Amino acid sequence: MTRFPGDLFDGLTSRAHPVVASIEAGHLAIEGDGIALSIPLGQIDVAPPVGAARGVVRLPGARELHSTNQAALAELAALARRNHPERWARHLESRAVYALAALAISVLVMFAGLRWGIPAAALLASRALPAGVDRSIGEQALALMEKVSLAPSKLPAARRQTLARELALECARQACPPHRLLFRNSPLFGANAMALPGGAIVVTDDLVKLSRDDEEVLAVIAHELGHVTYRHSLRLALQSLGAGAILVAVTGDLGNVSDFAAGLPSLLLRSGYSRDMEREADSYALHWLDARCIPRRRFADILQRLDNGPPDTVNLLSSHPGTTDRIHPFLVPGACA
Ligand SMILES: [Zn+2]
Repeated sequence: MTRFPGDLFDGLTSRAHPVVASIEAGHLAIEGDGIALSIPLGQIDVAPPVGAARGVVRLPGARELHSTNQAALAELAALARRNHPERWARHLESRAVYALAALAISVLVMFAGLRWGIPAAALLASRALPAGVDRSIGEQALALMEKVSLAPSKLPAARRQTLARELALECARQACPPHRLLFRNSPLFGANAMALPGGAIVVTDDLVKLSRDDEEVLAVIAHELGHVTYRHSLRLALQSLGAGAILVAVTGDLGNVSDFAAGLPSLLLRSGYSRDMEREADSYALHWLDARCIPRRRFADILQRLDNGPPDTVNLLSSHPGTTDRIHPFLVPGACA
């Protein structure tokens, strides 16, 4: 039992009554001249002394006990808290504004995590993954697409060979990421091109048919080479599968890559890349076209032609969003124009 001296103020007058307080089981007992109180610890509040000032124990009925015994007051404060630990929570809850602010902060933190945290983590994870993993995911995704949505190209062999040769020629002159150019017929994908992890670039017959010349097709392929360079499709797969998948990728224990591969085609087709990724791929294409002296306009022209197509079809624009903003840099003449 802790005993300590203090002054009791009765809340009616300013007169101090010298008393001796003692902390008993669950109670604070206060005794003095004509005074005998026993107050449950749950009903008191302790404001510990600040510096040399006296500490104040607030009691029911506006009464106060003042004391300089710091050790005893600290003990009393701890006991009082334990006897009504919910008081602080109740205090917060009783103020709707705190509750709302807490909710708003939670939503903001969650939003920030989704908007910036997951993409940033996916970027780091994609850098940590060895190139072999990209290829493996890309091959499985391609195999899946070949089964359900891609058919052999019906373009004349000569047209395909010319395009492939022009691309190979250019990639002999300037650095291109490792890639594989594939022409496929796909009513489902419409006029489209997509880059898979590991460098497979699928160009549909409809896209080639929509183009007015080879330079327009090369411009689209240059954009896809940008996606390959920055490993965008892998990042997209990691992002969509969320924090768990990213952790698995970073720790190197990728396990079954088919999880990543299975959802990729529809991700590329339905959700598309983020605008930041599109800007990165566009900027790659811009430099690539300038280096080749292909007018930048070629890219803007084919995108605009797609934009004027039937609105409800899946095409390059649904998988590569934000066209109107994006074509502006391609309307400015490049170094060779
Ligand atoms: Zn794109």
